[in-house]
Amino acid sequence: CKINKDEVIGSTCDVTFKEINEINAKIRPDLLSLVHSDFFKYFKLNLYKQCPFWNDNNGYCVNRACAVDVIEDWEKLPEYWQPEVLGGLADESVEVDGSKDDECAFLDQLCDKARNGIVDQPDFNYCDVGDFHNNESVLVDLTANPERFTGYGGDQSSQIWSSIYRENCFSSDHEDQCLAKDAFYRLVSGLHASIGTHLSNDYLNTETAKWGPNLDLFMARVGNFPDRVANIYFNYAVVAKALWKIQPYLAHLDFCNAYHEDVKSMIESVVSNLDSKIFNENLLFQDQISSSLKDDFRTRFKNVTTIMDCVHCDRCRLWGKVQTTGYATGLKILFEIDSEDEAARQNVVDKLTKYELIALFNTFDRLSKSIESINNFEKMYNEKVQST
Ligand code: FAD
Repeated sequence: CKINKDEVIGSTCDVTFKEINEINAKIRPDLLSLVHSDFFKYFKLNLYKQCPFWNDNNGYCVNRACAVDVIEDWEKLPEYWQPEVLGGLADESVEVDGSKDDECAFLDQLCDKARNGIVDQPDFNYCDVGDFHNNESVLVDLTANPERFTGYGGDQSSQIWSSIYRENCFSSDHEDQCLAKDAFYRLVSGLHASIGTHLSNDYLNTETAKWGPNLDLFMARVGNFPDRVANIYFNYAVVAKALWKIQPYLAHLDFCNAYHEDVKSMIESVVSNLDSKIFNENLLFQDQISSSLKDDFRTRFKNVTTIMDCVHCDRCRLWGKVQTTGYATGLKILFEIDSEDEAARQNVVDKLTKYELIALFNTFDRLSKSIESINNFEKMYNEKVQST
């Protein structure tokens, strides 16, 4: 309500709120269908890791709303999600068919990183990609476990958020630090605000026992803070630019021999509406000196993804992990793919895993849904003001 939609979002993002609203309105239907497709709706993760930062594994969220339903009935899943095809789930040592179709090379890498014996050296990851291949990992249908109000809160969630914000303390005094620090803060605050938007939009009214939007809650968490709204738009721009940047590779996706033309055309339709000017990643970490700053940024963001293991509410942890993995993937694409250097670019793209791609698209969907909800809340707010 207090935002001028013709203003640019700022920092390294040179598009207006209005322009992002327009892009979002165009891509929303396809993006929604995409994250409901069989390929994009399943995510594999370790939900039961110990919190490595503090000794607090006793607390847990007792609400049913905090629970996650994991997939146990594998036979109902499509062929390419069966354990033997996934490789990492049942048997990591499945033999590889040496003859590789060039068209499929990129996706082969996405399908099963373990089979190709790739070692992350140097480590340019912004999250721990080992989680996907862990023995304790479970497969979750994201559409059956929506991100919404869970009742998680109090000291437990405050502690998580304050530890996340504490990661935004860079040691370097390099002049680029300010921009990097600003970007880091906006990413975290945008994630926080996006979660706040979802829990307000899909809120359980205990009097009517119905789920629906709660305007007062939204205003208290997000709407009354223009910077928080702007940070959601900033994150949208970051993830959109990452998708734009891998567009040439996405066109060759072949989904592990279970090729779905409709999914491919939805990806194309979403990504073709994105524009390179949406975010200028080149303004950050421009020279050699700032490469140590970039290392610091990467390590700190990785810590944010690890802090998700300390979240007591399973459902919140699930979506926290999906989204921090999505941002980590986006940041890797933005900051580690040098558009001038084809070999370096290929190196990063080849090592992307299927789960990073799934997280990236689902994170984009979460931001897209947040922006749609913000516009709905604005209408509700205006109607409320007019009627009083
Ligand atoms: P909190 O949201 O806990 O915020 C703490 C303080 O941070 C605030 O007092 C404020 O000063 C500051 N702050 C708040 N928002 C921002 C912002 N955007 N930018 C900068 N500063 C800010 N709850 C659910 O119901 N459903 C979920 O799916 C869910 N997922 C979660 C995932 C994670 C990873 C975490 C840590 C928490 C999640 N929660 C979820 C809990 C939710 O985020 C809140 O912590 C909880 O609702 C309590 O809110 P609060 O008003 O006490 O303040």
